[in-house]
Amino acid sequence: MEVNFSEPRAKGGRAPDVFTPGGWESMREYAQTDEVDFLIVGAGAGGATLGCRLAEKGFSIVILDAGPFWRPLDDFASDELAQQILYWTDDRIVGGNDPISLGGNNSGRGVGGSTVHFSMIALRFRPEWFKSRSKLDYGFDWPISYEEIAPYYEEAEEALKVAGPVNYPWGPPRRRYPYRPHEVNAAGLVLARGAEKLGVEWAATPLATVSAPRGKSPPCVYRGFCNYGCSTNAKQSALTVWIPRALRAGAEVRDLAMAGRIEIDSRGRVAGVLYFREGVWRFQRARNVVVAGYAIETPRLLLNSACALFSDGLANSSGLVGTHLTTHAGPGAWATFDEEIRWYKGPPNMAVTEHWNYADEGKDFVGGYAFMSQGPLPMAWAQTLATSRGLWGQALREEMWKYNHMAGFVPVAETEPRRENRVELANETDQFGLRIPKVLFSYSENDKRLQRHAVRFMSDVLDAAGGHDIWVNYKDTSHLLGTCRMGDDPRESVVDADGRSWDIPNLWICDGSLFPTCGGVNPSLTIQALACRAAERISRLAAAGEI
Ligand SMILES: Cc1cc2nc3c(=O)[nH]c(=O)nc-3n(C[C@H](O)[C@H](O)[C@H](O)COP(=O)(O)OP(=O)(O)OC[C@H]3O[C@@H](n4cnc5c(N)ncnc54)[C@H](O)[C@@H]3O)c2cc1C
Ligand code: SF4
Repeated sequence: MEVNFSEPRAKGGRAPDVFTPGGWESMREYAQTDEVDFLIVGAGAGGATLGCRLAEKGFSIVILDAGPFWRPLDDFASDELAQQILYWTDDRIVGGNDPISLGGNNSGRGVGGSTVHFSMIALRFRPEWFKSRSKLDYGFDWPISYEEIAPYYEEAEEALKVAGPVNYPWGPPRRRYPYRPHEVNAAGLVLARGAEKLGVEWAATPLATVSAPRGKSPPCVYRGFCNYGCSTNAKQSALTVWIPRALRAGAEVRDLAMAGRIEIDSRGRVAGVLYFREGVWRFQRARNVVVAGYAIETPRLLLNSACALFSDGLANSSGLVGTHLTTHAGPGAWATFDEEIRWYKGPPNMAVTEHWNYADEGKDFVGGYAFMSQGPLPMAWAQTLATSRGLWGQALREEMWKYNHMAGFVPVAETEPRRENRVELANETDQFGLRIPKVLFSYSENDKRLQRHAVRFMSDVLDAAGGHDIWVNYKDTSHLLGTCRMGDDPRESVVDADGRSWDIPNLWICDGSLFPTCGGVNPSLTIQALACRAAERISRLAAAGEI
């Protein structure tokens, strides 16, 4: 069936029921003239979670997303090429000494955001990272501590029914994961074998895909299409977890609704958002606006909303909007094995070691990295071979014959937050007439040392596991963070610990752009925990008459 992804699905008092092919559930609708309590831009990890929790607390909520309202059971094909539709692939300009390649590797577009195609790794930050300047002598301190966020980590893990080991080896004591761990695949056992030979701990990766039935989600069937949209709904994405709850609690979701500008009234407060849907620009009034568009689109919208009162963009009196962009560097180490591995079976990252996140001795760098076993599907693997080793034609075919015997690791390697790494506006405009983002990034010397360390260590683990013909590649990255960091000081941060703008009290941010430092683990669990915390704080502030 040909699907038209340019027609909104969430309208007329109903939205797709993601658990029933072609099904619908009822959805409350607000008029543009209704001044809703919170208008949220972006239905991803941050926006969907916050929208759900605020709706459940009784606030009136509208969530806009630029992309479609996916129906996983109908829309998602087991086809690497067809599923490129999940990615935000609009033009962006990249620069710096180490330009970040954008598109599929970095952000999603559609209800559920990037969690629709994420790898489901659900890890907590190391406690010290919340105070990395004071305790580890790099980066910036967060305005909250691990102890403050810990209950919300637990709330997010419970909501996602994270499947993880009974005793996760790293971090403070914690409750058991809600679901038992997934059985580790052969690619993960390579990591396990090598790590054990080197005396380093490893674990089954805690994953947000269910290992046993959960409501209408069947257990994971280990087909490995997770980065292309899970067509069974085993994956616990924002689309399948927070959005259905948000709808039931009375939130309205508007898909294919691109926010172009946040409007400010004469008192310097946010009045609502101008957005493009069904061929026309519309305006939704709101008492509060939350920007949750990911670390590029969030600063872009704030900068594109510059006006007479805020000529440098909104929430930008510190001049920090767009700055201190961080990413996770992802150099790879790869090896061939005599035995068959078939690394495509199962979620892509089934075993992990966080050894170098928690060890402080023996490092020639600050910061940390976790690394995981990998399971690229054939097209993605061919692309890695072509781009990193220049293989093409017959040489590429010959290398691809080894596909079922390959294994390898990629780290989630911390980079330092530095002012010169940033998102700014280019002069070029997109199809909506909005200035497109320009993303500048260069690694620091520390970032490079950290990556060299990771590549050496991962190669040693592959060698210890019996791999041969080991080779490495350096160019990849994942996850974009920072750009609107939270803090205690209005001169040194964009928002406070609740995500509230220092400059405009009814403007909030709730996504990965809040991170002052990016740590050495995947960020979505922390984003969702921050959103759960923000919902709690907002309802307390509202009860105290402070909103
Ligand atoms: C291939 C891949 C694998 C990943 N695997 C993992 C993993 O295993 N574990 C993990 O923790 N993280 C993973 N991530 C990262 C994780 O998915 C993101 O960090 C996280 O989803 C970011 O949350 P967010 O709320 O900041 O933005 P997103 O979840 O990306 O949501 C932003 C939403 O805002 C919408 N939007 C943006 N601008 C506008 C606008 N102007 N108007 C309307 N809507 C707008 C977008 O359409 C999008 O839906 C992965 C990412 C990728 C690309
Ligand atoms: S491996 Fe599991 S989570 Fe991934 S796409 Fe298949 S069923 Fe979904």
